[in-house]
Amino acid sequence: MKNPPLTDHNKRVVIIGGVAGGASCAARLRRLDEHADIHLIERGQHVSFANCGLPYFVGGIIESEHSLLVADAKLLRSRFNLRVSTRTEAVGIDREARTVMLRNLETGLETMEPYDALVLSPGAAPVRPPLAGIDLPGIFTVRTIPDALVIRSWIEQTKAKRAIVVGGGFIGLEMAENLVHRGLEVTIVEMLNQVMPPLDEEVAERVAIRLKEHGVKLALGDAVAGFEGIESGQIRVKTKSGAAHEADIVIFAIGVRPESSLAKSAGLEIGQRGGIAVNSQMQTSDPQIWAVGDAVEVKDFVLGGNTVIPLGGPANRQGRIAADAICGRASTYRGTQGTAIVGVFGMQVAATGASEKALVREGVTGFEKIYIHPNQHAGYFPGAKQMHLKLIFRTEDGRILGAQAVGDEGVARRIDVIAMCIQMGGSVFDLEEAELCYAPQFGGAKDAVNFAGMVAADLIRNDMPTVHWSESSNAGTCFLDVRELAEFEEGHLNGALHIPVGELRERIDEIPETSDIRTYCAVGQRGYLATRILLQNGLRSRNLSGGWLSR
Ligand code: FAD
Repeated sequence: MKNPPLTDHNKRVVIIGGVAGGASCAARLRRLDEHADIHLIERGQHVSFANCGLPYFVGGIIESEHSLLVADAKLLRSRFNLRVSTRTEAVGIDREARTVMLRNLETGLETMEPYDALVLSPGAAPVRPPLAGIDLPGIFTVRTIPDALVIRSWIEQTKAKRAIVVGGGFIGLEMAENLVHRGLEVTIVEMLNQVMPPLDEEVAERVAIRLKEHGVKLALGDAVAGFEGIESGQIRVKTKSGAAHEADIVIFAIGVRPESSLAKSAGLEIGQRGGIAVNSQMQTSDPQIWAVGDAVEVKDFVLGGNTVIPLGGPANRQGRIAADAICGRASTYRGTQGTAIVGVFGMQVAATGASEKALVREGVTGFEKIYIHPNQHAGYFPGAKQMHLKLIFRTEDGRILGAQAVGDEGVARRIDVIAMCIQMGGSVFDLEEAELCYAPQFGGAKDAVNFAGMVAADLIRNDMPTVHWSESSNAGTCFLDVRELAEFEEGHLNGALHIPVGELRERIDEIPETSDIRTYCAVGQRGYLATRILLQNGLRSRNLSGGWLSR
């Protein structure tokens, strides 16, 4: 049957921003309301494109621009019966009259668009501080397909050999990898002392090692102060420490800022972090206007306060929730916990929930952490690869607060399971008991996730008193290395007493009487057994979490 013509009773929904949040909102709305008049407005040339694929398009791994178009305007029109206006910018909102002023960016023509419901999904723009020389040719940010095309042609035309990536977050790292893939020599300049700011420093250190193994130079703890064009046509990047790096191309990736100016000029409430304020139904301070995606402030699922976390998954889910709310459904958004993954030269780097440093920054106490280094599948099955996982939890009840992991395989699956457990309010005891799929080529009978839960639960139950390498020792501390001789000889703590765990029962008298025995092995497992032996022989011992590999 043909669609009936629009009448006064058709709900008019205008959506500003036609990519992740906006397009998903439009599609959901159409599924819920076949008769609504849905108008998707997009400033750029493309709707519903894969911004997450842009670094790989620059690197040539994604070869065709066409592959980045998840759904083009034609498909959105035919499949979802949407009105789609590209190269059209929303420049003003009249909340009284319920109209949006649209400007056609090709013709300059301005038109007024009435709405019953308005959805804002304008995303976030790359931060470009007013540094000297920031507008020099050859300095780029990455947000759109045209951005990626310009970067590609700049590299080709200038035959670029050296690149500076400013910012060591996930877009910076993806760009660095892809520029290396194109044969460029890359230096990352990062203000913090670590790459991947959402991770804790000791986890990020493993990522830094992988970057260096692939020839990426790191200038950490140094902020860019300005840029200068030099005669050779190159750009000189000057830093606060006084250093200078020369390059043919600079990628600026120091983060993004919510595009909240349209909302602000319409008098909508803006949160403390600069994002549009919304309630759990993604409704703004105006009940006829919803906002979703990178432009909004959301509840931090773990820490509870407001936050801005620019990620594709939350933007898509929020788009659906706004559509539900517009159609009178009761869906609510639970908050964002920052579950994210990035690939770095074959290494999977993933995290969910709060980091240790975020907890410290927020003044949260009463939490503990453990480190484990399990294989992604049974060790005896060919191709076993080690991963490194940090789990953070409340000591009072074991509730999981966050996890971070790196490794060549199997990382995403473990972080996803833990992410779900966090969302369900789960604890380390739930991880201990989680029933997960197992065959030797896929996992372990005690999966890495179970294992993390068991180690954390042992700590809480005080079956395994634990100490961290970062905790200071005193003159009376006895470090007990319980690895085999060959391992000990490869490297050990100065002054450590060496008794392999298999000999510990017979040689227990060699251990000096002290209240501070710290056992360690390679990854923590034999250290745990040694700790149990010592405890049951009346000695006071603690296991060094994660063993030698975590030091
Ligand atoms: P966007 O997808 O940015 O869409 C907003 C759109 O609104 C833009 O196209 C903009 O042109 C348009 N717009 C803005 N203002 C107006 C206006 N006034 N009028 C008309 N149109 C307007 N997230 C992940 O989870 N995983 C990843 O691997 C990942 N990789 C990424 C890689 C890159 C290079 C980038 C840039 C982002 C990446 N992200 C990733 C983040 C993810 O893409 C965003 O979180 C997501 O796209 C946000 O959706 P959104 O709808 O809020 O904004």
